[in-house]
Amino acid sequence: MEFLQINKIKGMRFPMKSYLSKLSFELGRNPVVEKIKNWEEFVPKPYKAVLLISADFELAWAFRFTKTEKNPVENALKKARLARKNIPGILSLSDKYNIPITWATVGHLFLDNCSRNGALAHAHIKRLPYFESPYWKYDTGDWFDADPCSNLAQAPEWYAPDLIQSIKNAKAEHEIGCHTFSHIDCREKVCSQEVFESELNECRKLASQNGVDLKSFVFPGHTLGNIAHLKGLGFSSYRSNYINTLGHPVRRDDGLWEHKSTVEFDIRPNWSMEYHIYRYKKIIDRAIKNHTNCHFWFHPSFSNQFLNDVMPEVFKYLDKKRDEIWITTMQEYTNWLNQNISKNKYMAIMNRN
Ligand SMILES: [Zn+2]
Ligand SMILES: [Zn+2]
Repeated sequence: MEFLQINKIKGMRFPMKSYLSKLSFELGRNPVVEKIKNWEEFVPKPYKAVLLISADFELAWAFRFTKTEKNPVENALKKARLARKNIPGILSLSDKYNIPITWATVGHLFLDNCSRNGALAHAHIKRLPYFESPYWKYDTGDWFDADPCSNLAQAPEWYAPDLIQSIKNAKAEHEIGCHTFSHIDCREKVCSQEVFESELNECRKLASQNGVDLKSFVFPGHTLGNIAHLKGLGFSSYRSNYINTLGHPVRRDDGLWEHKSTVEFDIRPNWSMEYHIYRYKKIIDRAIKNHTNCHFWFHPSFSNQFLNDVMPEVFKYLDKKRDEIWITTMQEYTNWLNQNISKNKYMAIMNRN
């Protein structure tokens, strides 16, 4: 059977990992399926499940401190160029199948230029201290040293008002969400409330100049932290990435909603294109069968092969299933939750489970 074939690649490590991943998928262990009795409370009638897709829209900003790269800024530029190449294709697929995406956008991308004020770029933005994390290392210079302080025409890897405009102009009703101003590490041990607020307030200011009210938040590099401040900063929900989950939204006491992520859109080198398509379709089927949310997420800098060979099939399948699964954005779904589930009702739902 195709899904259990071990690819013939020298060395067993990756084929074995790939085989185990396929096996665990067939056994229904990944993504983890959360079953609850009263799922109807979280899924508007007449649907059986909810589908969200979010994109971490960051161009070069996400990768400039990557530890594993010898020249991280060079790599960041490459990633940004890939994303710029992919985004028009993603938008046209979204239009073709009417599939909206929540674009968690790095705030700096709203700018069409910036300049160094004396020695520092964005001097009024509060800085993170030096830190090292499993992915990033920031231990020298200033946080904004890689910022070219130029403009869209000269350095399109760092500015993107043109792409933001294309997202807004698209037929599909996309949402523009927030991914911090400069792709910071948001964990409390690195990021103070002051830095977090300084970054997010800058995003809100630039977005509102662009006619956008930011409501949905995605933490850069899955660095969850400062969650308690999101509501006060005007956000209504965020995406979490603990484990791959087909589950239900969680309401915090302060009214902020958590949307659990299900799986990333990306190419795994040991899988065939057919297997990728099979797997994503099957995850959609499992969401419908178990009445859960399904939340796909991706970096627009993903392989062009995903956009060309996998995404069209997944979107076509979603379109075919749209009477069963509500395809929406984080903001629209959160609005529905807020209109239908009060604090007391949420507590009652949880107590019945
Ligand atoms: Zn700048
Ligand atoms: Zn990111």
